[in-house]
Amino acid sequence: MNGAVEILVVGGGPAGSVAALLLHRLGFQVRLIEASDQPRPHIGEAISLGVHRHLTDLGLGEALDRAGCWSFDKYHEQWERGEAIVRKAPPGSATIDRARFDAALWDLCRDAGVEVRLGQQVKRVDREAGGGWSVRTVDEGCYRAAFLMDATGRRGVLPKARRAFGPRTLALYGYWRGEGLPTCPHIAAGPGCWTWGAPVDGRGFSAILFVDRRALAELGQDLREAYTQGLASTGLLSLLASRAICSVISACDASAWYDEEACGPDFIKIGEAAQSLDPLASMGVQKAIQSARSAAVIVNTLLRRPDAQSIAVACYRDLLNRSAHAHRRATAEIYARSRYADMSFWQARSEGAGAWEMPISLSFSGTAAIKLDMSRLVEHPCLCGDYVELRPALLAGSEREPVAFLGDATIAGVIAEVKSSATWGALRTSLALKRDATTADRICAWLVHNKILTVGAPA
Ligand SMILES: Cc1cc2nc3c(=O)[nH]c(=O)nc-3n(C[C@H](O)[C@H](O)[C@H](O)COP(=O)(O)OP(=O)(O)OC[C@H]3O[C@@H](n4cnc5c(N)ncnc54)[C@H](O)[C@@H]3O)c2cc1C
Repeated sequence: MNGAVEILVVGGGPAGSVAALLLHRLGFQVRLIEASDQPRPHIGEAISLGVHRHLTDLGLGEALDRAGCWSFDKYHEQWERGEAIVRKAPPGSATIDRARFDAALWDLCRDAGVEVRLGQQVKRVDREAGGGWSVRTVDEGCYRAAFLMDATGRRGVLPKARRAFGPRTLALYGYWRGEGLPTCPHIAAGPGCWTWGAPVDGRGFSAILFVDRRALAELGQDLREAYTQGLASTGLLSLLASRAICSVISACDASAWYDEEACGPDFIKIGEAAQSLDPLASMGVQKAIQSARSAAVIVNTLLRRPDAQSIAVACYRDLLNRSAHAHRRATAEIYARSRYADMSFWQARSEGAGAWEMPISLSFSGTAAIKLDMSRLVEHPCLCGDYVELRPALLAGSEREPVAFLGDATIAGVIAEVKSSATWGALRTSLALKRDATTADRICAWLVHNKILTVGAPA
């Protein structure tokens, strides 16, 4: 039996490590336990600028230096057209060896004073009668804590309440080694699948096939056969197979979902234990870190402001729900652009694409009078510094979802600016004083599009 701690974090992926460190910085007694007893490879190797930004912002940029990123500024795409085109990669695009990256985060946790224990695979978690948790490992170890954080990725150790967000997808992946492999990432569409491949420093060329789970079952259970056929159908195989080999092929679920019971007064699920994104976005690691940051604020509120527990729980559920919808919309747009968009694999994944388009600017006379619908104003729980607090929000969209921030602007600030502006022109000028004109116009367009602001006849 190990001594009880305030917070036990189970799972040492990016989400668990970052959350453990942030909670330690907030003054909690934190223990992080991880199933692997040494650095292990992990899927999820393409990272974006958001990962760099989050880690730098948290003073953890060293993790990327220690992991050694392989940066790229272009990639090959065979998506909308049959032939490959070269596209400019977004700034900050890179691949990382997750064994080194995740281990670098464990080291940074230890350096900061977090207790990290490796080789502790949890097999069972129980709520104790008098409050708190008892957690058992496969080696019959036992840990006790007042608060439990599930950061075990897709596996999850707490009971699941997962809501699917799109069709079931399976990923088949392997690392290719040999001569003549592509030196640039490659994304390609096939009639019933898509593929992503990229060099990963020290591991070879990672090639992943994404296929519908049901369709794969119909093809039979021979993974190598299905993998090879899939890579051939997108053209990736011809770039790999002449002098290179792929020894082991692995499979994992790659469906998108989020957990509707991800938080309560004494537990929270974070990273991929709370939400799984469609890998098309290549945002899993960024989202894991972002969720760790939000979760640290939620947990801080749950444990230090008992009166605010219900708004903290509501805030976390709301964040997950919105993020799931936003990612579904974003990926649907990309699936809809495939040259196979009329085929069933693509239709199922592009459902709803285009439905959320919003005019970016609206042309009204600058002297037109404006009126704000104040009945749409509510109080909504938001992350504010280290705590969850209620903030003014506007109910928007067909679902009447509360929106408390428009980019960097708070709704409270926007409302104050609307109230002090008599005309459309005055409002645009006032908003543009604190931000660029395009962002100011987007805010105006959003208010009008959601029928929160009505623009009348010229005064
Ligand atoms: C096919 C595929 C491709 C992807 N590609 C990308 C990509 O290119 N870029 C990207 O950003 N994201 C990608 N993702 C998503 C990305 O892998 C995840 O979002 C990210 O790893 C989530 O981080 P996490 O910390 O939540 O969980 P994980 O990284 O999964 O970490 C969970 C940790 O918990 C540990 N654990 C599990 N069970 C237990 C247990 N019972 N006891 C103790 N410890 C346990 C595991 O060993 C692991 O270390 C991809 C996902 C898939 C399926």
